[in-house]
This record gives sequence, structure tokens and C-alpha cells, in this order.
Amino acid sequence: NPLNGARFVLAAHDITQLPYDQGAEVAFAGRSNAGKSSALNALTGHNALARTSKTPGRTQLMVVFDLPPLKPDDGAAPLDARLVDLPGYGYAKVPEAMRAHWRGEIDAYLRMRRSLRGIVLIVDIRHELKDFDRTMLEFCAATELPCHVLMTKADKVSRGQAGKALDVLRRDFRQQGVQGTAQVFSSLAKTGVDEARAKIVALLHT
Ligand code: GDP
Repeated sequence: NPLNGARFVLAAHDITQLPYDQGAEVAFAGRSNAGKSSALNALTGHNALARTSKTPGRTQLMVVFDLPPLKPDDGAAPLDARLVDLPGYGYAKVPEAMRAHWRGEIDAYLRMRRSLRGIVLIVDIRHELKDFDRTMLEFCAATELPCHVLMTKADKVSRGQAGKALDVLRRDFRQQGVQGTAQVFSSLAKTGVDEARAKIVALLHT
């Protein structure tokens, strides 16, 4: 699992501080408390790669993790690979000015980042999509960026409920014209971890 080699590189306050835009990266997005940090930790096999802390300030950064270089099948030179943890949304305590700054930065990042291969959107399987999630899906539809949704905390619902949630989400994809894929996930029960890793590695190779 190449994600096991993830190492913290830097936390950026704006897109100018990100590493040079080459190679391939996949960005993680999600409302605060959806379970994004826990998912990143489960996927990389680190206990505390992404902090599951509730400190708003800390999540107001784009956090970049390096992965081991990708070896293309055709024998070409290895490619730099990264995971980018986008700031969580939904903290009531974050001042509006900071939220506006972040909306602008994320928007610019998604539109301009050439090495960006796809978005992993983390949603709580128990809840309907929120405005932030819909905005991300709209964005992916508009830019034709692949979006893979991890419906996490699946350990909190029955199999039947999980299946229904997945159906509802796939209907949302069709309605919004998103090239989306989705799966059930649980950081706690480690459900769907291998499937998600394979998806992320495949995105990095596109
Ligand atoms: P973030 O704000 O999106 O980074 O969310 P965190 O990863 O910090 O998780 C928010 C809360 O949900 C924490 O209390 C976690 O322990 C809990 N949580 C995260 N993932 C899961 C999961 O798969 N199952 C359960 N039962 N709880 C989870």
C-alpha cells in the first residue's frame, strides 16, 4: 500500500505555499466532523497523520503529505505523488472573513492545480448531503474532476441503511451530472479501506 509511506510535508495558508505543481495529487475534502482526519489516518495506516483534533485553527490549512514516487507502467520516470487535506468546513467559530479567504483559496486550488487528479469527499453516511458537499460535487461536475465519496461512519448504520444511502447519493450524482463514484467506509471498523486505497492509487495514476 503506497499510502503507508505518507509523510507530512507542510501546511499551507494559501495556494502559493503549496509544493511545485507537478506529479499527481489527490485532495481530501469534507465538512468538519465528517470523519476526514480519521479516514486519512485509516488509509495511510498512521495513528495521527492527520490530527483528529477539534481545534478550528489547525484545520484552516491545506496540509500536504508526500507519498512514495509513483512508477508508471510504461517505465517512464517516477512521478511525485501527494495527498492534500483541505480545510474542513462548518466550524461556527471561524470568522466569516477567514471562511471567505478559504472559499477563495479552495476554489483557486481546484480550478488551477494541474497535478490534481481527483477529490475524495468524506461524508457522514447518516446525513444528507449538505451545502458544502453539493458545492464540491457541482465543482467536480463543472471541472470534470473525478470525485470519490467515502460514506464514512458506516459502523453506525445497518447494511440496509448503508445501501439506501449509497443509492440516494448515486441519484444525486446523476442529477448533478457528476462523474462520481462512492463507497461505504468506516475508519473505526476499517470497512472499505482497501477499496478506497485502490481508488486513490488509480486516481494518482490517471
Ligand atoms: P474531521 O473533523 O472530519 O477530521 O473528523 P474526525 O476524523 O476528527 O472525526 C470526527 C468524530 O467522528 C470523532 O469523534 C471521531 O472519533 C468520529 N469518527 C470518525 N470516523 C468514524 C467512524 O468511521 N466511525 C465512528 N463510529 N466514528 C467515527
